[in-house]
Amino acid sequence: NNIIELKNIDVTFHNGDQTVKAVQAVDLTIEKGDIYGIIGYSGAGKSTLVRVINLLQTPTNGTVTVNGQQLQQLAPAALRQARQKISMIFQHFNLMKSRTVLGNVEYPLLSQKISQAARQQKALQLLKLVGLADYAQTYPARLSGGQKQRVAIARALASDPEVLISDEATSALDPKTTKSILALLKKLNQDLGLTIVLITHEMQVIKSICHNVAVMDAGQIVERGRVAQVFTAP
Ligand code: ADP
Ligand code: ADP
Repeated sequence: NNIIELKNIDVTFHNGDQTVKAVQAVDLTIEKGDIYGIIGYSGAGKSTLVRVINLLQTPTNGTVTVNGQQLQQLAPAALRQARQKISMIFQHFNLMKSRTVLGNVEYPLLSQKISQAARQQKALQLLKLVGLADYAQTYPARLSGGQKQRVAIARALASDPEVLISDEATSALDPKTTKSILALLKKLNQDLGLTIVLITHEMQVIKSICHNVAVMDAGQIVERGRVAQVFTAP
């Protein structure tokens, strides 16, 4: 049961007279419920590739299918709905400074037709899930890096996603905090059946929670498979 199918994806950027082939002829299939790692050096094309999954980045060529729907063929309203099922978290958290923790988690729900009370209740439940219920009225500036990433995870879950894309989400965190965030992601995968696509440049992150991995280099996937097979010494 494949939740994500990218076929023959190219992404080419034009910077003045320079052409950058950020992604070249990539096929990527990810099964529902997987924790799929994408590893590679900076500039390999990892971010660009995962941004294609929710069409934050339009591919120059190729097809993007999520849950059996080819996203490029959807009308705007249907595309908006499909995109809500694919959430992202980032290295630098991207929280809004002017809103409380609760306000940040509620934010994706503002466009939905639900009452303020229901919205707050849902945001509080999500904060409980990530272990930050006591910080609902705190502003992000007062939180540690790990706490900020927990808020970002709660916010990402507000739209009831089926896929969570993590783009270097632990890269700004110390090893102990990294471990706790990875444990949280693993729990969300197990308890909610959330499919996770995780970008990193750190082998240890892949080894600790991913089931499958693709290695990217210069815009292409150069190796892929079960983590134990790809990374075990012969
Ligand atoms: P990674 O995530 O593996 O570090 P990226 O996907 O960010 O790699 O970048 C791949 C290549 O595409 C790099 O050469 C980068 O400079 C280039 N690139 C990424 N985004 C853009 C953009 N919006 N415009 C032009 N070039 C870009
Ligand atoms: P990352 O590798 O995590 O994407 P970067 O600093 O490479 O971090 O990129 C930050 C942002 O700038 C991204 O949105 C990326 O798409 C864009 N970007 C990266 N390289 C270029 C580039 N050469 N020209 C324009 N935009 C770029």
